[in-house]
Amino acid sequence: MDLNELAHLLTRIESEAAGAVSEARTADALRAAESKITKGPLAEAMKSIKSFAAEERGQAGQNINKTKQLIAEKFAAAMDALRAAGVASERKSASDFDPTLPPARTLRGGLHPVTIVQREVERIFSSLGFAVVGGPEMETEFYNFEALNIPAMHPARDAQDTFWLTNGWLLRTHTSPCQVRAMLRYGPPIRVIAPGRCFRYEAIDASHENTFYQLEGLLIDKDISIAHLIAFMKLLLREVFHRDVKVRLRPGFFPFVEPGFELDMSCAICDGKGCPTCKRSGWVEILPCGMVHPNVLRHGKIDPHEYTGFAFGLGLTRLAMMKYGVGDIRILNSGDLRGIVQPERLGGAKV
Ligand SMILES: [Zn+2]
Repeated sequence: MDLNELAHLLTRIESEAAGAVSEARTADALRAAESKITKGPLAEAMKSIKSFAAEERGQAGQNINKTKQLIAEKFAAAMDALRAAGVASERKSASDFDPTLPPARTLRGGLHPVTIVQREVERIFSSLGFAVVGGPEMETEFYNFEALNIPAMHPARDAQDTFWLTNGWLLRTHTSPCQVRAMLRYGPPIRVIAPGRCFRYEAIDASHENTFYQLEGLLIDKDISIAHLIAFMKLLLREVFHRDVKVRLRPGFFPFVEPGFELDMSCAICDGKGCPTCKRSGWVEILPCGMVHPNVLRHGKIDPHEYTGFAFGLGLTRLAMMKYGVGDIRILNSGDLRGIVQPERLGGAKV
């Protein structure tokens, strides 16, 4: 063999080594390939040295060693690369478990959106000196209608479709019976709110339910005017929504107030653009209110010449819908936990 032939041989061995390196996928395969080349063709090349002319043997040995070293380096680099990849993939699988993360969340019970809003309104009015009172859901005709200036033949009775009970009583159609109950019980001056459930025999749609929550408010004192009423209502809405809410006041007829108003707020579901919840008007009736009618004061044994006051019936269910963006009232009375546990997730107009 001469140096020229040796150069060819070494080049072949090098390319064989390069092929083995690129094929090996594991450390074991890499080690096996390396040993096959060193013990095979490289060892053979070493042995061939004695076939060289004496003056060429030194050079031949150097060339073979150079190739040997080159191949060893190649395999070492490939081994390093494999190890680095292994560590990375181990790290990756370890990252699936992070002991510092909180445990998986289990769904716990929480307060109903209406309860949250009710408590918030109670807190606001308590801070203004109002007492929180209750009243029966099963009412007499007297407290639900008559005492509120709605006599038997009054057309307003038709407007409130009523669930009548077989004993002649009824399921209260509003929280307003609490007004006269409070007057008779406490006497003037009075500052009370009465939250509670009301019932109407209604066709159910996105904004009407047969069961809903109201909150009655009543303030009776000397020299109380509409200005007080409006100031209280604006304060209430600002506190509940944590911002100034656009409201409009329009005349409304309720037999137990004179004058009476409808306080509407700009629909929070559609931002006043119009949607099924606000019947495409952009406004939602949230608060019928007014100055307590003298006849109602008389039923409550209060002298209307001495005392005046205002009353309002806040739609708690509707307020909860506006606050949490629940576009359909039926969700609040259903077992649909998406609406009740995380109401903020329900985009109102999408429902
Ligand atoms: Zn709307």
